[in-house]
Amino acid sequence: MKFLIILPLYYILACLTVPFVTTLFMPREKERETLSTENNATISVFNHVNKTTENMSMEDYLTGVVAAEMPAAFELEALKAQAVAARTYTMYKSSSTDHEADVCTDYNHCQAYLTDEEMHTNWGSDYDFYFAKIKDAVYSTQGEFLTYNNEPIMAVFHSMGGGYTQNSSDVWQAQLPYLVSVPSPGEEEAVNYKSSLSVTFEEFCAKVKEKYPGAKIESFLDVSQPALTQSGHVKSLLIGGVTITGSEIRSMFNLRSTRFALNFEGDNVTFNVTGYGHGVGMSQYGANAMAKEGKTYKDILSHYYQGVAFSE
Ligand SMILES: [Zn+2]
Repeated sequence: MKFLIILPLYYILACLTVPFVTTLFMPREKERETLSTENNATISVFNHVNKTTENMSMEDYLTGVVAAEMPAAFELEALKAQAVAARTYTMYKSSSTDHEADVCTDYNHCQAYLTDEEMHTNWGSDYDFYFAKIKDAVYSTQGEFLTYNNEPIMAVFHSMGGGYTQNSSDVWQAQLPYLVSVPSPGEEEAVNYKSSLSVTFEEFCAKVKEKYPGAKIESFLDVSQPALTQSGHVKSLLIGGVTITGSEIRSMFNLRSTRFALNFEGDNVTFNVTGYGHGVGMSQYGANAMAKEGKTYKDILSHYYQGVAFSE
């Protein structure tokens, strides 16, 4: 009896609370003016670790971003390309974010960022040398950003594409005219350019069924050959009658990229993976390889973001 009275109360309470709670998690779309790239322009940066917001100059912010996003030992022209890509992405991202600050330090949402203390920890006795090098990359390109139709582009980047970058529509829904698949040679020098992961067939099935309970997998024969994108990354696989995208497989098995081949041997399933990251936009290891060949940061950016203009 008591249960019968309490249940409707819970129901009413839930009806009243859910819309309120839901709005707490809804992104607040904001229209902002495009960030200024003039000297001394400041931006607000939300530190997602200590939950504080700090105002700083665009150059100080970009120094922390380049330090976090690209190895400081890379060629200067590659670091300059990274600085321009990061400045452009900052402008793109800040124009409509779901947090109060212009940008945040969460790489899953905006871009990674190292504080001065973290740079000291990472670089140790090389701090002075690397800090000066990254400052050089940021200041020698000060104010420069990339545009398409006079708008800052979505200048996404990744570690290495595995020989080719991807079309944006291969990974996300929209096809942006400047995010098209291009060759990305020279990445193979990177450590972990190729990686592999083995699981038992039982583990493989369990992972798939956890997310797709409808998949009927009895044997290796229920797993199709992958359908590939133009760049050779896995677009999708048919597993036990269910189509699963390469990106979903990557996320389920924590693979370094969607450029993988599947190998069945004995009771094991092995993913042989090439590259690292989503594969769209600038490849950082590809950028470094171009720089080593004597290419400039403008050559690098024009290659990985096709048809864009340089603006200041
Ligand atoms: Zn953010």
